[in-house]
Amino acid sequence: MTENNRPPHFLEKIITEDLESGKVPTIRTRFPPEPNGYLHIGHAKSIWINFGLAEKFGGSCNLRFDDTNPVKEDLEYVESIKRDVEWMGYHWDGAVRYSSDYFDQLYEWALYLIREGRAFVCDLSAEQMREYRGTLTEPGRNSPWRDRSVAENLELFERMKNGEFADGARSLRARIDMASPNINLRDPVLYRIKKASHHQTGDKWCIYPSYDYAHGQGDAIEGVTHSICTVEFEDHRPLYDWCINNLPTPSQPHQYEFSRLNVNYLITSKRKLKLLVDEKHVDGWDDPRMPTLSGMRRRGFTPKALRDFCEMTGVTKVVGVADISMLEFALREDLNASAPRAMCVLRPLRVVLTNYPEGKTETLSAPVHPQREVLGMRALPFGREILIEQDDFREQANKQYKRLVLGKRVRLRNACVIEADEAIKDAGGNVIEVRARVIENTVGQDPADGIKAKGVIHWVSATDNHSCEVRLYDRLFTDPFPDAGDKHFLDAINPDSLTILSGCKAEAGLRQADPETRYQFEREGYFILDSRYSTPEQPVFNRVIGLRDTWGRTSDH
Ligand code: ATP
Ligand code: MG
Repeated sequence: MTENNRPPHFLEKIITEDLESGKVPTIRTRFPPEPNGYLHIGHAKSIWINFGLAEKFGGSCNLRFDDTNPVKEDLEYVESIKRDVEWMGYHWDGAVRYSSDYFDQLYEWALYLIREGRAFVCDLSAEQMREYRGTLTEPGRNSPWRDRSVAENLELFERMKNGEFADGARSLRARIDMASPNINLRDPVLYRIKKASHHQTGDKWCIYPSYDYAHGQGDAIEGVTHSICTVEFEDHRPLYDWCINNLPTPSQPHQYEFSRLNVNYLITSKRKLKLLVDEKHVDGWDDPRMPTLSGMRRRGFTPKALRDFCEMTGVTKVVGVADISMLEFALREDLNASAPRAMCVLRPLRVVLTNYPEGKTETLSAPVHPQREVLGMRALPFGREILIEQDDFREQANKQYKRLVLGKRVRLRNACVIEADEAIKDAGGNVIEVRARVIENTVGQDPADGIKAKGVIHWVSATDNHSCEVRLYDRLFTDPFPDAGDKHFLDAINPDSLTILSGCKAEAGLRQADPETRYQFEREGYFILDSRYSTPEQPVFNRVIGLRDTWGRTSDH
C-alpha cells in the first residue's frame, strides 16, 4: 500500500520526464478550489495529488481560490477550505492566493487581446448566444458584433468595467472560431457583467472573468508547471492553450487531466451537499455523516486514512467508482494500529456476581494497546456489580451464540470467567438483571487453565464508570448511486443514519478521554469525542466506524 511498491502513475511519469529532460527545473502545482462550499472527499483526492506530487518531487504547491463568481462565494468557505487543507497534512507555498489577486492583470490582458483583434464586445443575450453557438454536430454562427473595430471594443469594454451596462447586457468574447468542432473554442466568453460585491475585491469590479480565462493565466502568473484538473476539462485544454499562446504570459503552464474520484454511497457535488445542509437533512456541513472533509474530521476519520484511500484508488484517466469499503478499510487499518483500547457498554444490563464479597473492589489492569506495549496499562475498577451489553446475554441460545447464557460460562474481557445462574425480570418479562458467579482463580488470570469459556464479552463496573452518550452513524444514503440517472438523491436518504444512545457506560479511565484521540471500544468499534456536542459534564462519543464491514449483512450482533 505504500507508494514505494507500486509503479508510478501517468502524472508521475510525465513529471519525471519533464524534470529529466530539463523542460522544467522544478515543479509547481496548485490546488484551486472555488470558495462556494465546503470541501468533500473528491477534493481530498485533488489535494493529495497536487500537494503530494509537489512533496514527492521536491517542488511546491499553491493554494489558489478560484474566486471568479462572487455571487456564490463566501469567506466562510475560504476559511473552512484552508482548515481542511491543513488538516490533510499539507502546506501551501507562500501566501494564500486568489484568482482575484490577478483581476488587474487579467483586465490588462483583455485589452491586449482586443488590440490584437482577438477579443470583442458582444451584445447577444445569453439565450441568443446559445442559439448562435451551434451543436456538437453543427457549426455555430458568427455573432453580428464580431467585427467591431478595436476602438469601439476598447471603448465598450471600458464602459462595461465602469458599470454603464446591466448584468448580462454585454460580454467580452474571444475571437476564435465559430466552426470549431470544439464548442469551447466557439468565441467563448472571457468577461461577464455581474454587479455583485466580491468577498476579496469588494465593489471594485462589476465585470468578472470566466473560469477559462482566469485559470490558465493565474497558473502562468504563479509559475505553475503542471496544472492538474479533472477530465471534464479535457475539452477546455485547447482554450487554455489558446489563451497562453495569445498572451504575453510570464510562463507556459500545461494542463493535465485525471479522472475524478467517485465513491459509491457518497455524493461529491458541492451543490447537492449544500442542498442537504440548506434543507436541514443534516446538521450542517460538518455533520459526521457528510462526505465533507469537515464532516469526516468530526466523525473521526484520520488524514492518513484519506491519503491512503487516495493512493489506493490510483490516478488514471479512466472514469470509475471506488467502493466505499475501500475507504472504510483504509480507516480501520489506521485506527487499528493507533487507537488505544477501552471498554464501553452501550446498552447496559446489570450483572451481580453473587460470590464476590459485598463492598469489595479491586483494580484490574489491561494493556492500552495489545501490540504497543510502550503505551502501558490502564486501570479497570472491578466489583460485585458490573454492566454488560443487553445483547450479550440470553436465557437460552444455540452454539453459535458465544456470549453469556444461563448455566454457561463466558470470559469478561481483561477480567475473569463468570457463569450465569439466574435472570431477574420485570413485570413485562424483560431481563433487568443477571445473577452470576465468578469462577474461582480466574480473576486477572489469562486464560485460566482448564476453564472453558466459549466467548469473551466486554463490561464495566456498575459503580465506578463514566456515563456518556454515544452516536452511531450509518450511511447517509441507502442507494449506492443516489444521484445516478434521473434519480433524486433526497429520495435515497437513509432514515436510520443516526442512532443516539444515552446512558452508555464507559470504563472509568475515559473520564480523562483526550478530545483528539480515537479509541477502540473493544468489540464495538472506533470512537471519538464529538467536537461540537461533547462537554465534560455530558460527554458524547461518535462512532467513527465499526470493527468489521457488516453493511448489508443480517448479523447476529
Ligand atoms: P463540485 O462539483 O463539488 O462543485 P468543483 O470541481 O466545482 O466540485 P472546485 O472547487 O472547482 O469544485 O474544485 C477544486 C479542485 O478539486 C478542482 O481542481 C477540481 O477538479 C477538483 N475536484 C473536484 N471534485 C473532484 C473529484 N470528485 N475528484 C477529484 N478532484 C476533484
Ligand atoms: Mg469547479
